[in-house]
Amino acid sequence: MRAKGAKAIKGELYELACLLGIAACVWLIGDTLDVFTMMQAAMVRDGLSGILCLGFLMSFAFAAASALKSVRLRGEMKARAQAELAAQSIARRDVLTGLANRRLLIETIDSAAGHPNHPFYAALLIDLDRFKPVNDIYGHAAGDAVLMEVAERLAALVPKDGLAARLGGDEFALFVPHDGRTADIMRFAQQVIVALSQPITWQHATIDISATIGVALFPIDGSDAESLMRSADIAMYRGKREGRSTFRFFESTMDEELKERVSLELALRSAIASGEIRPHYQPLVSLPEHDLLGFEVLARWYHPDRGIVSPTVFIPIAEDTGLIADLCHSLLRQACNDARQWPDHLRLSVNISPCQFKDRLLAARVLAILRETNFSPRRLEIEVTESALVNDMDIVRTTLGVLQGAGVSIALDDFGTGYSSLYHLREMKFDKIKIDRSFVQSLDDNEESAKIISAIIGLGSSLGIMTTAEGIENLTNSTWLAQKGCTFGQGYLFGPPVPAAGAGRIIEEAEALRAAANLPVDEARAA
Ligand code: C2E
Ligand code: MG
Ligand code: MG
Repeated sequence: MRAKGAKAIKGELYELACLLGIAACVWLIGDTLDVFTMMQAAMVRDGLSGILCLGFLMSFAFAAASALKSVRLRGEMKARAQAELAAQSIARRDVLTGLANRRLLIETIDSAAGHPNHPFYAALLIDLDRFKPVNDIYGHAAGDAVLMEVAERLAALVPKDGLAARLGGDEFALFVPHDGRTADIMRFAQQVIVALSQPITWQHATIDISATIGVALFPIDGSDAESLMRSADIAMYRGKREGRSTFRFFESTMDEELKERVSLELALRSAIASGEIRPHYQPLVSLPEHDLLGFEVLARWYHPDRGIVSPTVFIPIAEDTGLIADLCHSLLRQACNDARQWPDHLRLSVNISPCQFKDRLLAARVLAILRETNFSPRRLEIEVTESALVNDMDIVRTTLGVLQGAGVSIALDDFGTGYSSLYHLREMKFDKIKIDRSFVQSLDDNEESAKIISAIIGLGSSLGIMTTAEGIENLTNSTWLAQKGCTFGQGYLFGPPVPAAGAGRIIEEAEALRAAANLPVDEARAA
């Protein structure tokens, strides 16, 4: 800064010196050619000395220099004002899409709030569904193209006195005035979903995305930007949980639920540390023999006030808060210690969340726990769902490859519910496919389920992958599955998830049965 100032002063001095030089030259020439004497004779009666002329010319040079400076200063000020305006506009615009950014949205909401006779407004928080796989499958250029197309569609929908903004990632917002009738906003939200659900063509691919919208009404659901957007966020989160590609209006009970969730989050943190989360074990058996082969580890939270909390409640919270890794490692450690007491041929199956694969050291951490608890990797099975594979296939492939190399087997959990992709089955070397329990449970009243199960078992056997059917609750289903060629079974028919002591009793019974049948251990292992 200081160097720049010194340079400018130097420049000005140089200019002044030049102008003075020119004035001196003019005087010298004028004096040599006797111009001043002639001027003196023509214009001035009382005499005009050469020195006076020089003084006059010098003053003229000073005046010219300062005029030049002021013209230039004015130009600079104008350019600076323009640059400031441009910077301000950039600071309020999203660079990729050109929509307003979070800052401008907040300013707009707050200025609407400050207006004494403001109309009704609605804030729509829009989160794209299925956007992440676009980046993963087609790359970031495709992701950017989708975001730009979404921005264009939103800009086309937003009324003149409304605002469309991109808040970051795949999150957008609209702030629109309305006449107080929620039916109109519902129609508008639906219109937005329909517009964003239209396929997007990128190069030769057709990309399908959609959107989930949370709607908060101003000023009922929030009288400033922060509270209004928080309400819209809560409503959007509810929409995501209840099926996506939909919209939800904020309700005050949602806030209560959020508080409940925050309190669960806090409690979960200490629960993991204090060992309140314990493994339950559900038997895995062979079909059609029903021989006990091992157990799936299913987490249970022994909450001091709430009793036993289901993993469907706390696993998503653990995933969102990044606590899942600690929880998984703690469970694995406890389960390996329990399973060390079991006969060697019984195996342990552990669920790993998709988000855990972000950790490049996952395989090393799992193997370290196996070493620490002296539990053989050959007795461990990892269950992953397909959603783990769409995030970053390469990391997942490497992690699973390291684990398989160490002897751990890998099962694809809940198959049939998610992507059910043949590509995943071909790309990854799974040892087992677990058919989701929803198919088995609808076997009796849904013909399609029977067809899907048969197809999955057929697919597994043609790829040399074993199959486990989850959720078997009656003998008829178990027999039918065995006839179709399903290799393993799991479900309440063989036993619900039980604490370690219960697993111990199941093992004792199984061992007693095996002894009665006089089945040699080696034969059981081969099974
Ligand atoms: P999952 O891995 O598919 O586990 C099977 C679920 O089906 C378990 O529910 C089990 O109790 C239930 N189940 C088993 N047999 C039957 C049956 O015959 N009928 C019915 N109706 N249900 C049956 P749970 O224990 O509530 O676990 C739900 C999900 O939570 C699990 O699904 C798994 O995705 C997740 N989960 C549980 N423990 C863990 C964990 O330690 N880590 C991770 N990442 N996820 C876990
Ligand atoms: Mg599982
Ligand atoms: Mg499952």
